[in-house]
Amino acid sequence: MSETVCTKCEGTGMCQSCNGHGYFICGSCEGDGVETCPTCGGVAHFEGEEGNLMQCYDCGGEGTVPCRDCEGTGTLYCEQCDGTGRCNMCDGNGVMS
Ligand SMILES: [Zn+2]
Ligand SMILES: [Zn+2]
Ligand SMILES: [Zn+2]
Ligand SMILES: [Zn+2]
Repeated sequence: MSETVCTKCEGTGMCQSCNGHGYFICGSCEGDGVETCPTCGGVAHFEGEEGNLMQCYDCGGEGTVPCRDCEGTGTLYCEQCDGTGRCNMCDGNGVMS
């Protein structure tokens, strides 16, 4: 029986979706894991009724909040390869058995 090069990964054995990493860089936060706070727009403070500065309750004065898409990790789990980084068609071997 001859071995056939895997058509999905073209013999690399790597998951083509994530380039073998097992994860993606989160597009929403570009890998930072944080987003600009939607409540204060990154300013982190509000002006109170008496002109005093009040800390933004949503971000705690940081101006940023953990990214909701990646939950603050900066990366997204690759479902194509179950996070292994291996081609799911040839199981990382690069050839079809
Ligand atoms: Zn493959
Ligand atoms: Zn805020
Ligand atoms: Zn993110
Ligand atoms: Zn993958």
